[in-house]
Formats: sequence, C-alpha cells, structure tokens
Amino acid sequence: MTLRLVRRLYFLGVGVSVLLVLCGGTLDIDWALLLGLLLLAATVALEVKYWRCPYCGEHLDRNLFASYCPRCGEELDYDQDLRGLL
Ligand SMILES: [Zn+2]
Repeated sequence: MTLRLVRRLYFLGVGVSVLLVLCGGTLDIDWALLLGLLLLAATVALEVKYWRCPYCGEHLDRNLFASYCPRCGEELDYDQDLRGLL
C-alpha cells in the first residue's frame, strides 16, 4: 500500500458514495442510499487509518497533495511502500 493508492481509493470511494447517496436519495432507492453511506464510512475509515506519514506515523491532515509532512517536515514519497511502517 502506498500513499498514492490510499489517495486514489479515497477519491474513488468519496465519488462513488456521493453518487450512490444522491441517486438513492432522489430516486428513493433505499439500498443505494445505504450502500453509499456504508461506502462513505469505509472510505473515511481508510483515510483515518492509512493517510499517515511513513516517518512519524502522524495523520497527514486534509491536504491530499502535500509534499511534506505537516508534523515532522519530511518529504513525502507517494510511491513508498507503507507495509511495516504504519
Ligand atoms: Zn511526519
């Protein structure tokens, strides 16, 4: 898992869940609304758990395009494998 993959999954999860919630809400489709809310919760959980600095382990805030960690100041490598670091 890399920061780039976490960011892509986050954008994909938010986009698909917003579409599901909008379609489920406007067309009165309960399963789409529920699925969208569950996907949104899973996406937020993924972001909270894995959107972290590989050096200090702190959360990287809401800036999904940061070049440096706001906590320790290390330069972020979006292609670095995070397994074993977090
Ligand atoms: Zn850091």
